Amino acid sequence: MPHEEWVTAVQPKTAPGHDLPETDAFSRVYWEAAAEGRLLLRRCRADGCGAAHHYPREFCPRCWSEDVVWEEASGRATLYTWSVVHRNDLPPFGDRVPYVAAVVDLAEGPRMMTEIVDCPEAHLRIGMALRVRFRRVEGAGTASGGSGANAHELAVPVFCPASSPAPSSAPPAGV
Ligand SMILES: [Zn+2]
Repeated sequence: MPHEEWVTAVQPKTAPGHDLPETDAFSRVYWEAAAEGRLLLRRCRADGCGAAHHYPREFCPRCWSEDVVWEEASGRATLYTWSVVHRNDLPPFGDRVPYVAAVVDLAEGPRMMTEIVDCPEAHLRIGMALRVRFRRVEGAGTASGGSGANAHELAVPVFCPASSPAPSSAPPAGV
């Protein structure tokens, strides 16, 4: 249920593009980091807790403390489960099918709904190592109905196999 609320929050049904996140004062920090290629988590600082969570909330979902801070995630994750989506009538997903909707376990612990990219369906394995990548969202500056919060470029975190070559880094040595 919390996941669905978050997905609904970032994919408003009334927006022209259904994958455009809506930002508010709280979530803006998260989306601005994403636009810079950084994945943020929330970390509880309460005594005896210290839990990390995702999606971001203003309180700790484990102990209800409000002493929660942003923390940059490593971007490493493992695949928990996935579903290949062959039909989605909401734009722009219809142009993107089939795609792999997935739940991943972040290295820091939280479980996150996302999408797997750059991996043939036959190569998907539960527990496979993944790393985060960011998909630029086109038209993000105009889609959010005058809230003014989307003036910056937006990017959505997705995951690819950890073995995929990084787009901007050198190939592994010795290959
Ligand atoms: Zn806590």
